[in-house]
Amino acid sequence: MAILICGGAGYIGSHVNKLLSRNGYETVVFDNLVYGHREAVRWGSFEQGDLRNIAELENVFRKYRIDAVLHFAAYAYVGESVTDPEKYYFNNVSNTLNLLRVMREHDCDKFIFSSTCATYGEPERVPITEDMPQRPVNPYGASKLMVERILRDYGAAYGLQFVVLRYFNAAGADPDGEVGESHTPETHLIPLVLDAANGKREDIRVFGCDYDTPDGSCIRDYIHVYDLATAHMLALRRLEKGLGSDCFNLGNARGVSVLEVIDSAKRITGRDFKVTMVGRRPGDPAKLVGSCEKARGVLGWNPVYEDIDTIVSHAWQWHQNARY
Ligand code: UDP
Repeated sequence: MAILICGGAGYIGSHVNKLLSRNGYETVVFDNLVYGHREAVRWGSFEQGDLRNIAELENVFRKYRIDAVLHFAAYAYVGESVTDPEKYYFNNVSNTLNLLRVMREHDCDKFIFSSTCATYGEPERVPITEDMPQRPVNPYGASKLMVERILRDYGAAYGLQFVVLRYFNAAGADPDGEVGESHTPETHLIPLVLDAANGKREDIRVFGCDYDTPDGSCIRDYIHVYDLATAHMLALRRLEKGLGSDCFNLGNARGVSVLEVIDSAKRITGRDFKVTMVGRRPGDPAKLVGSCEKARGVLGWNPVYEDIDTIVSHAWQWHQNARY
């Protein structure tokens, strides 16, 4: 039996592929390589294909006996989702329906879905718990929430077993340096700060220093990509044991401000660089911090790299010797 990892050539998927392979799972990565990297698929089998194309998916399900699907393949640029929502609804929602259809045709009923804290929108309070209202403020978050809804309906009607994992800010890199983060274009804070440290950017711009937070910059919950990966393996084991569908936040319940990330990067890299204060980025909530009580209690999740300096140092190690 094999585990299908859609989007396994991307940042989080490649780390999950490594962890599952190292733990004895046979994995098959399905990726169109639009944003993913062939070099990131270093374990298991690789099938290049697009979720738009049902025939390509069917070939994969015919070739391998797929027991469960982990679905990472999505577009995730919030700003672009606002200017080009069609791209997001087609890829993130419609293509997921294709995947669920082919799974059903092949009696595959276990599904792990990459959702996001963006489904909560601007939270009433932090830390955010799973039962708080989900009111996304952009099409990206809306597209992920739509899939969550679809999964509930498919579970009720067709018996699909699923785990929804709502990520907070994925960060860091494989501690062994075999895979890491590489986006084009890069919009995420930590890689951009490290580019500034590396001299590849002339400065790091801080989007807003007038938020209602202790230092005025936005607060986020950075979660190490290795810890995200372990949560996926625990979710898979939950489905294998038939323990039922559920959803979990994956955060550290600990907020770190933009300025604190920058300080950490200066400490870890030992380099100074220019920091420029600019205006707020539209759509950025002041504070997003996730409660991880449920994932700890129900999945038995135990994140090990919670400290921001550790997260930044693994990212820096990757950044200096990136393979792709
Ligand atoms: N941010 C920033 N400068 C940048 C990129 C990001 O100040 O060049 C801030 C952004 O406003 C947010 C935080 O860093 O408060 C994390 O942003 P990122 O894009 O990494 O993740 P997001 O929270 O948007 O998913």
